[in-house]
Amino acid sequence: MANNITVMKFGGATLATPALMKGVARRIVETRAQGRDVVVVVSAPGKMTDELIAKARAITDEPDEREMDMLLATGEQQSIALMGIALKSLDCDAISFTGPQVGIVTDDAHTKARIVKMGGEKIKTALRLGKVVIVAGFQGETENEEITTLGRGGSDLTAVALATALSAGICEFFKDVDGVYTADPRIVPEAVRLPRLAYDEMLEMASLGAQVLYNRCVEFAKKNKIVLHVRSSTKPEPGTLISEEVAQMEGVMVSGVTHTKKEAKLTILWVPDQPGIAAKIFSRLAAEKLNIDVIVQDISEEGSTNISFTISQDDLSRAKKAVEKLVREIGAKGFEADEHVGKVSVVGVGMRSHSGVAAAMFEALAEKGINIQMISTSEIKISCIVAEDRVEEAVRAIHEKFQLAKLA
Ligand code: ASP
Ligand code: MG
Repeated sequence: MANNITVMKFGGATLATPALMKGVARRIVETRAQGRDVVVVVSAPGKMTDELIAKARAITDEPDEREMDMLLATGEQQSIALMGIALKSLDCDAISFTGPQVGIVTDDAHTKARIVKMGGEKIKTALRLGKVVIVAGFQGETENEEITTLGRGGSDLTAVALATALSAGICEFFKDVDGVYTADPRIVPEAVRLPRLAYDEMLEMASLGAQVLYNRCVEFAKKNKIVLHVRSSTKPEPGTLISEEVAQMEGVMVSGVTHTKKEAKLTILWVPDQPGIAAKIFSRLAAEKLNIDVIVQDISEEGSTNISFTISQDDLSRAKKAVEKLVREIGAKGFEADEHVGKVSVVGVGMRSHSGVAAAMFEALAEKGINIQMISTSEIKISCIVAEDRVEEAVRAIHEKFQLAKLA
């Protein structure tokens, strides 16, 4: 059921100073003046969430999670109150609510809670009275009225959940960037803004290093068919629309190049090539809460094989300890670590219907003499692990190869 409701979500960077907040308030008033019913979701201003976490950590390394939620929820509560003040100073009838006040119910996983129920009546009533409704992102409460937060970046999720509960036509994300780009413009100056993306592409890009939207928010939007619009908080031009796949998207081979750095590669040498060994290795690593990314097993020689995998550099010392033990237990010969690798990936739903994407990507890397250490693919992405200090060059070479600057 489409209606006239627009959800407008403003990230912390767009609310960092009183002057920015006033600008945002004017933007909201303009949208309201177009006859839209407006629900605003805000993050904590600027770096406030980081600062609050730092304060708690200055007291203890492992702050209690219930109390962390109590603390972190105050950031967004400041934003809603200040936005209410800003809007009312412009003679705009507005009202601010916390997450619990509008009935955002979550499970009790403090600091990474999941939404289990979403109210909305209070918001609908206020909209009927002609008010702009401001809701604190990132927070909710359990059935027992304990305050929770939804994980870093969780305000995006609040916005999409509200859009779903209110059957809003669109959920707009106002940012200090004006959309999603074909690559990180700080690395590729020719990168261009993508006018449209499919949910699946955005999901891949978000998990491959493009820090535009919170992954859980995109999953939620896909499930509930909420169209997302990522756009600038200061410019009027449209940004990037994220929706279900449309036929024209398939016409493009690759939509973007993403990258990550700060990964490490571990190789276990001369692993006995027997059923159950890989299961043993990776269930142990999982039990150590190590997040494994790409895995490659070499071809077997004389009953042995090498198994390589990548992890975040932050987890390297823990991973090394676990692997050292495993080597002894499974009777492998030893292990090697490459502490500085990164990943470059190309993403595009067009890959489903075009061939030759992998070949072109590998060619781009070969032309620069960049060695590919590992490869992983899905239906709509290809990733290569390369040396960390070649990642940026690799991104530029691939961007050029697929002529992504022409996608605008
Ligand atoms: N303020 C929270 C954070 O910085 C939530 C958000 O901004 O979405 O993670
Ligand atoms: Mg934030």
